[in-house]
Amino acid sequence: VLVQVHGQGGVKFQNWAKTYGSSPELYFQPTSVEEIREILDMARQRDKRVKVVGGGHSPSDIACTDDFMIQMGKMNRVLKVDKEKQQVTVEGGIFLSDLNVELSKHGLALANLGAVSEVAAAGVIGTGTHNTGIKHGILPTQVVALTLLTASGEILECSESVNADIFQAARLHLGCLGVVLTVTFQCVPQFHLHEVAFPSTLTEVLDHLDDHLQRSQYFRFLWFPHSENVSVIYQDPTNKPPSSSASWWWDYAVGYYLLEFLLWISTFVPSLVCWINRFFFWLLFSSRVENIAISYKIFNYECRFKQHVQDWAIPIEKTKEALLELKAALENNPKMVAHYPVEVRFARGDEIWLSPCFQRDSCYMNIIMYRPYGKNVPRLNYWLTYEGIMKKHGGRPHWAKAHSCTRKDFEKMYPAFPKFCSVREKLDPTGMFLNTYLEKVFY
Ligand SMILES: Cc1cc2nc3c(=O)[nH]c(=O)nc-3n(C[C@H](O)[C@H](O)[C@H](O)COP(=O)(O)OP(=O)(O)OC[C@H]3O[C@@H](n4cnc5c(N)ncnc54)[C@H](O)[C@@H]3O)c2cc1C
Repeated sequence: VLVQVHGQGGVKFQNWAKTYGSSPELYFQPTSVEEIREILDMARQRDKRVKVVGGGHSPSDIACTDDFMIQMGKMNRVLKVDKEKQQVTVEGGIFLSDLNVELSKHGLALANLGAVSEVAAAGVIGTGTHNTGIKHGILPTQVVALTLLTASGEILECSESVNADIFQAARLHLGCLGVVLTVTFQCVPQFHLHEVAFPSTLTEVLDHLDDHLQRSQYFRFLWFPHSENVSVIYQDPTNKPPSSSASWWWDYAVGYYLLEFLLWISTFVPSLVCWINRFFFWLLFSSRVENIAISYKIFNYECRFKQHVQDWAIPIEKTKEALLELKAALENNPKMVAHYPVEVRFARGDEIWLSPCFQRDSCYMNIIMYRPYGKNVPRLNYWLTYEGIMKKHGGRPHWAKAHSCTRKDFEKMYPAFPKFCSVREKLDPTGMFLNTYLEKVFY
């Protein structure tokens, strides 16, 4: 088949938080595998690199390139629903927001989701997106098969039984193994979730961590730095009818606009942050709140305005020590300010080579510094302190989120790192799918 694919010049790519961007020489929105093949041919001939982008949500430069960018938004079909096996096969560019709705028409759902769904199937698995729940793995553990279009133009099917090695690499692929054309997810019967959020203290939660983990299938908590305050969030399947205590006034007028304004003020008076964290806890998180809805509406939550984040996974047994160290570091250094929340989530260990949860149950600790009205707030000290604590406890950074690690670190962190490298070098010997971010990982 002869197809003519057109790339657009002059497109500026920016990630969701507008913290990273690039100016691809040509920007493509292919509608077929043939078109993607043609783009790869053109890249090979002109000695260009290629980056595929999904929802562009990654808070780092992992999806950036100044060469060829392939945006997968037009390859977003549901290809097959296997009701018996409860599996769905989709094109890599489908947004989870569309997939959730499609699945519910078939009485199915994904067992776990991250905070947002305006992200692509191939994109979320590419960086190891996770949610919480000690019985649940990160999102790539829900993948049972996928197909890759490699740099040479070959289509590779992989699963536990076919190309098994490539499969363990490609379930968390970093966008560096080829173009992910299709993904097959293991689903579960559609379910509703009952969410209960209630106030507690850091001491209580850390002292009874196992109880909380046992008590709720999707347990997480938010810690409000510069204080003892914690909001515990339980989410569990229910048969009760949907109900909601959410209100526009509290969630948006106060939780979003007032917070953004006050955080902006605090850029002139940093000591206000401590007060803001306590004030908002008292205002929004100090009483019990309950919601019931279809699973994906409860899994997804408002991430408010633009922000910088870091999110490392440490062995679960280090949770208490690491958090208390972070708390002590903030107390000992009054000039170092931390926005709320520090979000603490959990995930089951797995066998995916580059999974931060590789062979260990893990605790993810997400720190945040908002950018009120787009203004950057100094965070270097907080960032370095956090990274130091995470590293000391054997942490592994979230691949989507900016970090300062390089190949040397990853070699120490990941026992299967050499295996991943050899698969990558075999599938992409010229480094067509690399970019600046990935060079730091592999060189
Ligand atoms: C508001 C917000 C909330 C978030 N919440 C969470 C959360 O709860 N938990 C969590 O773990 N993370 C979270 N993240 C991070 C987010 O889940 C990841 O960045 C995820 O990878 C985004 O998916 P995407 O489709 O936007 O991927 P992109 O950022 O577009 O791409 C990610 C990677 O996948 C590659 N890629 C994408 N599509 C393909 C393809 N078809 N073939 C080959 N490579 C491809 C890209 O090259 C890149 O390397 C959040 C981010 C934001 C902005």
